[in-house]
Amino acid sequence: MATMVNPNLITDLQKFGAPDINACYSCGNCTAICPLADNDATFPRRFIRLAQVGLTDELVTSKELWTCYQCGMCTARCPQEADPAEFMATARRYAIAKLDKSGVARAMYTSPVAAAVISLLGVLVFGGFFASVKAAPADRLVFGVPYEWIHLVGLVVMILVALVAVVNLAMMARATAKREGVTGKSLFGSKQAWGRTLRALWSAIGVESLGQKRYREDCADDQPAEPLYRRRWLIHFLTLWGFLALFAATLIHYGGDIIGVPESVAESVISPIARVIGTIGGLAMMYGVTWFGINRYQKVSAAAQHTSLSDWMFLGMLWLTGLTGFIIEVSLYLPQAHPQPWAYVLFLVHVAIAMELVLFMPFTKFAHVMYRPVALFFYALSRESHKQLQSA
Ligand code: SF4
Ligand code: SF4
Repeated sequence: MATMVNPNLITDLQKFGAPDINACYSCGNCTAICPLADNDATFPRRFIRLAQVGLTDELVTSKELWTCYQCGMCTARCPQEADPAEFMATARRYAIAKLDKSGVARAMYTSPVAAAVISLLGVLVFGGFFASVKAAPADRLVFGVPYEWIHLVGLVVMILVALVAVVNLAMMARATAKREGVTGKSLFGSKQAWGRTLRALWSAIGVESLGQKRYREDCADDQPAEPLYRRRWLIHFLTLWGFLALFAATLIHYGGDIIGVPESVAESVISPIARVIGTIGGLAMMYGVTWFGINRYQKVSAAAQHTSLSDWMFLGMLWLTGLTGFIIEVSLYLPQAHPQPWAYVLFLVHVAIAMELVLFMPFTKFAHVMYRPVALFFYALSRESHKQLQSA
């Protein structure tokens, strides 16, 4: 099959914030220091080479692209200031935009004005939408917003996001499987294949994505080492689990409503459980996101040197979602007969930002939550295949 060469790849990558790609002369220093290069004598410099020769498809469909934690050790060791860590981050931004056929991701990454306008529009549309239905009967309202509208909008948003996310993810998985020579038969064709597939799944989702094993181990090599309370893997771990806990609390709370749990049970059992999970999750997420922001603002390590506007917006939205959620929670305990107007406005802001955050998942840094586990699966699968070949 013919290989397509893209002569404009470097120019295009520069729009996504790429460092000086032509500065790299493939000396291999980055490979020598990278903790992920143990079985690959070309990682990460191979990716810069792919950009230099214009191989777009190879660049955006390589599973290794998503395994890099942007620790920055390669950049610290590079004699040419080619900044391979930032190049890898740029290549991931580029891959997110390439996989998203709507063009929203590209607009958000390449144009600060478009990113600001799209984000503002999202907040205004959601906020305005909820505000416009304030006149509904009071007994069906939460801070003036009817439950039915919240459910309906939430449902529509989730379906839309799920559709875009599934299409993007399927395209990424298909392209990676093709590159890796993985077929349905090699995944499920025999008992041995099933075992390999299940072990790779567990490694990708349980051990690495949720347990963050490799992230934790590789952080131990950071120079200078950050104090534990602000170390990269810990704040990433808390942000991830905090977000998952908040998501679980929302599911528990509204899930009870949807399946028709009696109001007395919802108030006495489900709501307190959801609140405890939500509060712990919210605290964990706020802690992690706050330190991410401080680390990046202070540029404390090689990993925190470059932050795009889209990345700042992602962090800011996570932080604001947590903060507004906590203030709303506190407002429920205030001695007042009805929610105050300020609490209603805050609720609108909270819902608008939270929805926008979810809605933008396939178009921002958040997309790594989708692509990384898939890449890790293929990574673990090839490791399992090698193991089986060696033991045969
Ligand atoms: S990125 Fe830097 S360290 Fe890595 S191969 Fe290129 S010049 Fe060498
Ligand atoms: S940033 Fe870290 S994990 Fe990524 S390529 Fe460089 S050394 Fe390897």
